[in-house]
Amino acid sequence: MSRRPVARALVLVSGLILLFSAAIVAQVPSPRSVLGFNPTDDKTIADWNQIVDYFSKLDAASRRITVKEIGRSTLGKPLIVAWISSPGNIKNLEKLRRISAKLADPRTVKDTTELESLVKSGKTVVVISCSIHSTEIVASQMSMNLAYELATASDTDTKDILDNTVLLLIPSPNPDGIQIVAEWYRKTLGTKSEGTSPPELYHHYAGHDDNRDWFMLNLKETQAITKLLWREWFPQIVYDVHQQGQTGSRFILPPFYDPSNPRISPAILRDTGAIGYKMAADLQADGVAGVATNSTYDTWWHGGFRSAPYYHNSIGILSEAASANLMTPITVTEQQLKQNRPVRGLTNLLEPATNYPDPWEGGLWRPADIAKIEMTASRSLLQMAAKFRSRYLRQFYDLGKANLEPRTDVPKAFVVTAGQPNAEAVSRFLEILMWQGIEVWRMTNELYLKMEPDQKDFHEMPLGSFIVFTDQPQRNNVLSLFEKQTYPHRLMPNGDAEVPYDVAGWTLPLQMGLDYASVWGIRDLKAAMPTLRRVETVDQARDVMNLEPAGEPFPKLKDPLRTNPRIGLYKSFTGSMDEGWTRLVLDNFQIPYRSVTDRDMRGGNLDLDVLVLPADSENTIHKGLSAERYPDEFSGGMGEDGVANLKKFVESGGKLICFDDSCELVIKRFGLPIRNVLSGLKRSEFYNPGSIVRLNVNTRDPLARGLPDELPAYFTTSSAFEVQSPGVSLSDAKPPETGTRNIRVAARYAEKDALMSGWMLGENYLNGKAALVETDYGKGKIILFAFRPQHRGQTWATFPLIFNVLEK
Ligand SMILES: [Zn+2]
Repeated sequence: MSRRPVARALVLVSGLILLFSAAIVAQVPSPRSVLGFNPTDDKTIADWNQIVDYFSKLDAASRRITVKEIGRSTLGKPLIVAWISSPGNIKNLEKLRRISAKLADPRTVKDTTELESLVKSGKTVVVISCSIHSTEIVASQMSMNLAYELATASDTDTKDILDNTVLLLIPSPNPDGIQIVAEWYRKTLGTKSEGTSPPELYHHYAGHDDNRDWFMLNLKETQAITKLLWREWFPQIVYDVHQQGQTGSRFILPPFYDPSNPRISPAILRDTGAIGYKMAADLQADGVAGVATNSTYDTWWHGGFRSAPYYHNSIGILSEAASANLMTPITVTEQQLKQNRPVRGLTNLLEPATNYPDPWEGGLWRPADIAKIEMTASRSLLQMAAKFRSRYLRQFYDLGKANLEPRTDVPKAFVVTAGQPNAEAVSRFLEILMWQGIEVWRMTNELYLKMEPDQKDFHEMPLGSFIVFTDQPQRNNVLSLFEKQTYPHRLMPNGDAEVPYDVAGWTLPLQMGLDYASVWGIRDLKAAMPTLRRVETVDQARDVMNLEPAGEPFPKLKDPLRTNPRIGLYKSFTGSMDEGWTRLVLDNFQIPYRSVTDRDMRGGNLDLDVLVLPADSENTIHKGLSAERYPDEFSGGMGEDGVANLKKFVESGGKLICFDDSCELVIKRFGLPIRNVLSGLKRSEFYNPGSIVRLNVNTRDPLARGLPDELPAYFTTSSAFEVQSPGVSLSDAKPPETGTRNIRVAARYAEKDALMSGWMLGENYLNGKAALVETDYGKGKIILFAFRPQHRGQTWATFPLIFNVLEK
């Protein structure tokens, strides 16, 4: 009885909410009203300019949304982020940001009373980022629908989400790519190229590798978003929305597959799995078939959009929806599903399994299907973020706090020693750490350190060295960047190495060729603390380095090339990431070059001193894009004419430089007496998916000018050479074939213990084999790098080799 008035009041209140929401709906423009079509409908596409335009209209119309430009893309487009929350929260964004920042650093929280008040008044900060891979285009279009729905819906579920979370929605962290893909898609609609990838990298430098840069921060986009996430907003949950191939499962969610990285907190792995399972359960309730968990993707590797958060005590979610042909629907047959290549955790797509309980039977697959799944998954994640708000905030604080506790099983700190010659690499490295919010200190007095856990005596560390303590909120990040990785030895039942999701080792100071060490004890640290200076800014790090009289400057890193060669860099239409990273290194060091296309190659337009072939297979370089799907101007590769002109170029005095895979084409087509000893080996015999390996360098060779006799180099299913003519050594090479003479080996893989960080099966196949070879050919020269001296723009240790070989 007594309930009646209450019920009536509720009706009245919800009536008011309805009226109020109706007013909101009337004001907030729908995507259709702005774009003229419903985003994610078949064969529609909004380019970046339109997406920015739509979000700016939302910003103007909705009190639940505020949109800001957080920086510019590599090609100058605005990088935008939409903050979505209740109008009250949107008014208080700065206050909410500060709460999240405080929880990220428990040292700033006075006591439990303050903690309780922060947990009570804070909101779960969630990031949803769409289509970092631009051909995985649907999420960027879906982002407008998601924002509109959250801006206008009036149900209690939405209200709960808006009240308890602050969503930072990133329509795309690669605006340039959305523009490139949208323009290509429109241009080719109705032609044989409809739905194909554009004939260029969709990120100016990185292409698909734009999601391999989250600890190295080479790109403007990763720099701006890393600042937003880990120096300003400190999200507790990050969701990165991707697409996979067409004929696999319809959607993949966490929990992920093995191996997990031991530096990720178990609590983070559990919560990542719990959110993934909730998303999968909600999709099942919606009747969506073909959703997989515990498959394909692992959490070993550090540098992706969803994996970097683990090292900031945050939950990182990845989803992968099956693709259409960009925005053109496709039909997938049962036969295709049957023949789909098995992936880890998912061998048969037509049979139910615990991690894949409802197989999809095939049929029409449209962009709207992808978008619907991604909308449901996003809402599902936001519900979790809202419902468990205080739990996520408290855990975020607790994990940071646990990282401040002393531990004896990990180093106390790492030092980057003063006075090393490569000052530029050191300041760049410190910059990268600080951009991620890692604290760096500089010694203004000598410190006495123990460099081994059981060492008795203290070792004096020179004045001016940099020290990074591990007892900081980001302990896991510090450890994962400095430590050597030991990837677990994982074999398939047939004895083959099981292929990891990405590379196995990345130890950053090692890749950058720095002199650094782990510290297990510090004498009188309390007394020494006042003599340490916190390096607060990147400029400070640079200044400090510039002040250091750092001995001989590192070869070539600072000076432009001495001999002014005319450099060409081969650029195919297949979009080679290795080409892009090479360009990034040349641009960063201001080395002039021009791009050489297949047209130039076929036409013999090679008025150059030096030509660089970035890593690509013989087939890709030779054949290029298929004429069945691409117009003549983009298809056909270098072809026979290009290969013939390449030979002529070297014979008449040019210098040809090949990275990794591209050596294959040159060895074969030029008849060089050199063999890749790893070619043809089974994955049970040799395997190295991406690790740092030790090179022994012949320092008397001009190619190795100024380098130490041992170098860490990056190997990623790369090569190892044997010079086939017997008796050929460093000094007395015989001419084994006409046109080839004087083969010199400037660097070899170490005779033993070649693996420095990562995973390598069958190391003995590679030990002592040639890694950098130079041979005369006609009047010219050919230089073969068996590895990638510029891998992802990270391998500063081997950059000087590139600069040396580029000299005339
Ligand atoms: Zn992707």
